[in-house]
Amino acid sequence: MSAIPVSIGRRMPEARASATLEAHPGAPLIDTHGRVHRDLRISLTDRCSLRCTYCMPEQGNEWLAKTSILTLDEIELIARTAAADGITTFRLTGGEPLLRTDIVEIVRRLAAIKGPDGRPVQIAMTTNGIRLREVLPVLVDAGLGRLNISIDTLRRDRFHELTRRDRLDDVLDGIAAAAASDLRPLKLNAVAMRDVNDDELVDLVEFAIEHDAQMRFIEQMPLDAGHTWDRSRMVTQDEILGTLGRRWELTPVAGRGGAPAAQWLLDGGPHAVGVIASVTAPFCGDCDRLRLTADGQLRNCLFSTTEYDLLPIMRATAGEREREIDGMLRACVRGKLPGHAINDPAFLQPARGMNAIGG
Ligand code: SAM
Ligand code: SF4
Repeated sequence: MSAIPVSIGRRMPEARASATLEAHPGAPLIDTHGRVHRDLRISLTDRCSLRCTYCMPEQGNEWLAKTSILTLDEIELIARTAAADGITTFRLTGGEPLLRTDIVEIVRRLAAIKGPDGRPVQIAMTTNGIRLREVLPVLVDAGLGRLNISIDTLRRDRFHELTRRDRLDDVLDGIAAAAASDLRPLKLNAVAMRDVNDDELVDLVEFAIEHDAQMRFIEQMPLDAGHTWDRSRMVTQDEILGTLGRRWELTPVAGRGGAPAAQWLLDGGPHAVGVIASVTAPFCGDCDRLRLTADGQLRNCLFSTTEYDLLPIMRATAGEREREIDGMLRACVRGKLPGHAINDPAFLQPARGMNAIGG
């Protein structure tokens, strides 16, 4: 099948790979650098209840065409095929995944999928926490297994400025509900930003500990819709550890595997902090992740400018869909580069903002 471009509003689309599809249903997804892929990030929507400055513009965002958004049945079929090929974790993200009105059914259907070894897949979600209090019990009942909640600041005025919405209380409510649930490990994410929240790093870690959660700081990445990222202003892993190291003794935790966050024990444990240092300490060598955008584009990297288009397969009236999805998964994995090139002067920021890729 040849690749067919999909409209993503007025924004320039990413390059579409036109791949020769070789299907090998059931074989593991191993790239040309020997990395076995086990994790599929599924973006459910590019819409969001917040407008975080590092992710979305305040106004005038070019939304994905509604007709291009994958349906529940389409997501399930892609996920089933991926699980048969060895994907063991699905992380639901966006945009804000809790804005999907069918979110509970999506979790229920995906959680029922089993891998080739008969074991059920893991369902995780990254959310801004708004609506979580209301839906968490049903999500857990449907099979949600893990939760990451984003919170960049504990101060209402800052939250409002940073997200352009006055919703801190809703997020705090969502975190309290998650803390009261059985979902563990519970993780809280914050993008560390100079002169925005870099004086709150210790407060955020203490807040996480109070909620039986682990705080993880993310280096800001060049994925904002406004393309305003500035390397010289980003807060680095070294700076984060320097600040935390003045409050706690930090001991590195070994055995990270394919996880994006490196971890440090605080004063010998049991509490720990994580840092996702995609810019200053990339972890591409162990990357086991693929991404599916809400409009059916497979991506092999957050920073890739090439997409593998599943939409024509999903919308075709005839054809062996699972075999073709499998072929597209393999083409996407085959095209994966050894690492991203953020630190290369020729680095080209993807056309999509983070909300349309899925973080
Ligand atoms: N709306 C949900 C949320 O905020 O958790 C899920 C989607 S959001 C895109 C996923 C994660 O990406 C969040 O933790 C967010 O902080 C992070 N993120 C977004 N833009 C980023 C950027 N430019 N650099 C680093 N992290 C970013
Ligand atoms: Fe929305 Fe998450 Fe992006 Fe913030 S980071 S605008 S909550 S998608």
